[in-house]
Amino acid sequence: MNYNRAQFLCSYGISSQIPPSDRIEIAFAGRSNVGKSTAINKIFSRKNLARVSAVPGKTATINFYGVENIHFVDLPGYGYAKVAKTEKHRWSELIEGYFAQDRNLYLVMQLVDMRHPATALDVQMVDFLITNEIPFIVLLTKSDKLNKTQRTERLRLIREELPCGDQLTIIPFSGETGEGVDEVHAIIEEIALQ
Ligand code: GDP
Repeated sequence: MNYNRAQFLCSYGISSQIPPSDRIEIAFAGRSNVGKSTAINKIFSRKNLARVSAVPGKTATINFYGVENIHFVDLPGYGYAKVAKTEKHRWSELIEGYFAQDRNLYLVMQLVDMRHPATALDVQMVDFLITNEIPFIVLLTKSDKLNKTQRTERLRLIREELPCGDQLTIIPFSGETGEGVDEVHAIIEEIALQ
């Protein structure tokens, strides 16, 4: 797949605006500031496909990108405490609305910061994916920030923190070093063949 040919398609602020899905979809989810934009840019070898911000809590939108036969869906980052209630409400409307639609969703890449324990919302999200039988993998972001001891420890603990942790596909990922990119590409290639 020609990842760097990825094109931004559209942003939606309300889930009812999203057109019916006519392609395979792969979605990215994670808390605000987890490194989702950085991961997307790394996966597609692009500097600015997704915006990277030092300030968390951007306006919640669902962004669609297209490459060949797949649509990639960038879900709004959740859990940023300092946003207004109305914005939080909009976030949950968007994300719940997206998942409630009848879509060709083949995989969710659930991003969790490797440096910290999974948050309550991360656990809730994984729980939701399991309950709704939505296939997903976990990308542990910012892996470059951990030393060897911390890394081993986090890889062990995350399986205790997340529901069904021992059965999950968990991939350390870094937008800095490119760790995990080949594994993610391999998973995408497999889905693209379907
Ligand atoms: P988003 O809100 O989830 O889209 O997060 P961003 O991609 O905007 O990243 C939030 C912050 O974390 C930025 O300052 C990034 O430079 C930093 N960051 C993201 N990914 C990595 C990574 O893999 N390694 C390191 N060291 N920093 C990262």
